[in-house]
Amino acid sequence: MIPFVYTGSPMHVVFGSGTITRLGSELERLGCRRALLLTGRRDRAAAEAAAVGRIAGVFEDAAMHTPVDVTERALAVLQDLRADCTVAIGGGSAIGLGKAIALRTDLPQVVVPTTYAGSEMTPILGQTEKGHKTTQRSAKVLPETVIYDVDLTLSLPPALSVTSGMNAMAHAVEALYAQASNPVTSLMAEEAIRALGRALPRIVAAPTDRGARSDALYGAWLCGICLGTVGMALHHKLCHALGGTFGLPHAQTHSVVLPHVIAYNAPAAPDAMARVATALGTRDAARGLFDLAARLGAPSALKDLGMPEDGIDEIAALSVRDPYWNPRPFDRGAIRNLLRRAWAGLPPDRLEEPSPAR
Ligand code: NAD
Repeated sequence: MIPFVYTGSPMHVVFGSGTITRLGSELERLGCRRALLLTGRRDRAAAEAAAVGRIAGVFEDAAMHTPVDVTERALAVLQDLRADCTVAIGGGSAIGLGKAIALRTDLPQVVVPTTYAGSEMTPILGQTEKGHKTTQRSAKVLPETVIYDVDLTLSLPPALSVTSGMNAMAHAVEALYAQASNPVTSLMAEEAIRALGRALPRIVAAPTDRGARSDALYGAWLCGICLGTVGMALHHKLCHALGGTFGLPHAQTHSVVLPHVIAYNAPAAPDAMARVATALGTRDAARGLFDLAARLGAPSALKDLGMPEDGIDEIAALSVRDPYWNPRPFDRGAIRNLLRRAWAGLPPDRLEEPSPAR
């Protein structure tokens, strides 16, 4: 018997096609009459029509990594409008802004995700101030209601669908070997990897294939639950350091780094690797993820995302300074090696041994 702890979230989730039309009734269910809508131009009209008079105003300036000055501007609009809730429609940027507002006001949130990032399912909020990103956990930032509408994801360009999908997969893969891993989350993780692994090639071939989009969004939802319930390890540590230090694009960075971290962790987490490989229908988890990303045309080199070569040492040093729990201990030399391969776009190297250069 393996003892474990599992904490679920009390979110109300609506999943389907055309579900944005449920926005008005979901706001009514929460007793909300004056929502501040956080979204861009693309989804604004659909949301306003669906909310049947319950939108008090719109804020369009959400940005990547939730800058605190943007949150303060949104809070001023919220107060002027006397809004009683937020409705965030978009990717992790719009959703992050909604969570940052909830942290400060405790107002209810309805979230409609249009990428596969998964932030809507986590009590985690990353915020940036004066170029410095900090992350915190609080149940206050969990949305009350999440509406998954497959139709709103049809417009996500294939390239972004692939990297966003790989970003989601990273949550599930790390959940299989995270310190707080448990059999319930692992079931979801395996199912999520299988659903995304199946869906992404079909989306690249036919971006408006509703069946594939549905599989991907379902998988991404499960990936978000994985991230929210069991936490993170080396992969997320490196991606946060790369994003925070060099401003590298979020989903693309995850996509490049994931196979390399899996190769690094493989010797220390054989059961997790077997489950990833089974879900992907391959023999080797790291190789399978690298080949999948390559087949889907995802970027494979951090240098192509704008990372300077002399940043390799910096990120390796940063990661060991304040390590997360990881099945294989953080080793500066081996992490430097991993980063060098990811920087150059080489396949993952799973034969690497810990180096003495700590
Ligand atoms: P994003 O929200 O910035 O969206 C990326 C781009 O895609 C934007 O230009 C957006 O307008 C566009 N887009 C979104 N949906 C679209 C659609 N359906 N059709 C066409 N274009 C669309 O990026 P993201 O990758 O979704 O989220 C990244 C952010 O989320 C980062 O700030 C990251 O730190 C955060 N995040 C947080 C958590 C968490 O648990 N706290 C988890 C994952 C990501």
